[in-house]
Amino acid sequence: MPATPPHADAPAVPPALRRALAGVAAFVLDADGVLVMQGADLPGARAALETLRARGIPFRVATNYSSAHRSTLAARFRAAGLPVSEDRIVTAASATAALTAARYPGRPLFVITKPDGRREFEGQQLMGFDDADAPGARAAAVVIGDGEDDLSYANLDRAFRLIRGGAALLAMHRNPWWFTSRGPTLDSGGFVAALEYATGTRALICGKPGPIMFRAALAGLAADLGRRVAARDVAMVGDDPVQDIAGARRVGLRGILVLTGKTDAAAAAALENAAPSGVGARRSRAIPDAVAPSLADVVAALD
Ligand SMILES: [Mg+2]
Repeated sequence: MPATPPHADAPAVPPALRRALAGVAAFVLDADGVLVMQGADLPGARAALETLRARGIPFRVATNYSSAHRSTLAARFRAAGLPVSEDRIVTAASATAALTAARYPGRPLFVITKPDGRREFEGQQLMGFDDADAPGARAAAVVIGDGEDDLSYANLDRAFRLIRGGAALLAMHRNPWWFTSRGPTLDSGGFVAALEYATGTRALICGKPGPIMFRAALAGLAADLGRRVAARDVAMVGDDPVQDIAGARRVGLRGILVLTGKTDAAAAAALENAAPSGVGARRSRAIPDAVAPSLADVVAALD
């Protein structure tokens, strides 16, 4: 069948992007570097989300941002002009809370994160700092999130003892640092590593790039579609080759890298040019199925 000539003023869709979008049923979207940058919406993001909604293509926003409840994030998206409701968001905190609710119903949890992120665990048995100090205190799990000042020596020491007493170690994510108004800022990954080192255990990572969060997003998309959706029919759009692309591809999703965030065109080209035979599986998973300038370009390239 002859190819349809592109519209006179629309550039042709690159073949890799066309392939990456063929038959796609739904999207998982990263937030920072895809929809927003430093709290402001990225050009074309709002129109792209409106196009997806108009075409009945569901999406989930999957972000490791975990110090705020999803309702707070939805309000921030609204303030930036982006139509993203609370039930369309999966955070590292909400994915962790869903896991603890299913795995440890009614059992005590020692959760270190900021109060707004802690609201994700509403209805679960959260221990106070004093409870964790009680002689013989036991927890089903210790959860490390973006606790900032609550990631103190005293609390890590409490967490350490609970893990030695049999608690599982869960981490919302393992991010080493991130950008805040203070500039590059220490994140909670180093504290997770400290507890792993001291206890000789390995944390279960509930956020990206682990599979738990992508599976939570897939379950939400299946509910929207009213049917099971195969991971291969869902595309992740992200700006981080490891957290977004490799994480999504490990679960079977397609990975589309955009250049509106932490990866520039030169870095994306270097990734794409990496010879698959010469790199490890971990690195080859970080090679995206396609690269696009922005989410707006991805959505514009849908048939
Ligand atoms: Mg990002």
